[in-house]
Amino acid sequence: MKRILVLTGTPGVGKSTVSEQLASMLPGQHINVSDIVAAEQLVCGTDKARKTQIADISRVSSRIAEMTEENEGYLIIDGHFASDLVEAKNLFMAFVLRRDPVELQSILRKRGYDTHKVSENVACEILDICLVDALQAYGKGKVCEIDCSNKSAATIAEEIRSILKKTGKCNVGIIDWLTKLESEGTLDSFLASEL
Ligand code: ADP
Repeated sequence: MKRILVLTGTPGVGKSTVSEQLASMLPGQHINVSDIVAAEQLVCGTDKARKTQIADISRVSSRIAEMTEENEGYLIIDGHFASDLVEAKNLFMAFVLRRDPVELQSILRKRGYDTHKVSENVACEILDICLVDALQAYGKGKVCEIDCSNKSAATIAEEIRSILKKTGKCNVGIIDWLTKLESEGTLDSFLASEL
């Protein structure tokens, strides 16, 4: 059976960069969900408020299933809603990439996101949205959290590879941005516009 890895996390945490690195290390094939959605127009409407197209989950899932058949070895599915696209029975392991909200905010600003889109995504990171999605989809045994803050993509990819080789430990529940930001007195400034 093909080994499907899901790399999920809030936009900007570093999924695509780490996936590329991991794909060359394992080796494996990297599939960026947003790229496939855009290239093959697997969409079912437009989110006018966010000025983005809405991915057609069922068509994207079918497309990924097709690609799974085409490939041997590891297939790395990278996307912030990847846990909606790969069924639990087909998953080898899921990695939820996390990034300190201060770093994430800076990355998303550099990416050119507007103020609302930055704060919406940073709030998702603080509130563990992608982790909760992954745990709901797959349960605890196959989901690992990786703190990417202040680490190179190569270090992060190596951390993932060591977990796959069973020399590294799979952790979940290790990140608590709420408590960290609260203790630093900055939580309100991050969440004020979202609550
Ligand atoms: P995602 O796929 O999660 O949206 P990207 O891989 O596109 O994230 O990375 C977002 C931005 O952060 C890019 O500009 C990328 O160059 C940068 N980046 C990615 N990984 C790291 C890292 N480990 N350290 C510093 N910057 C990074």
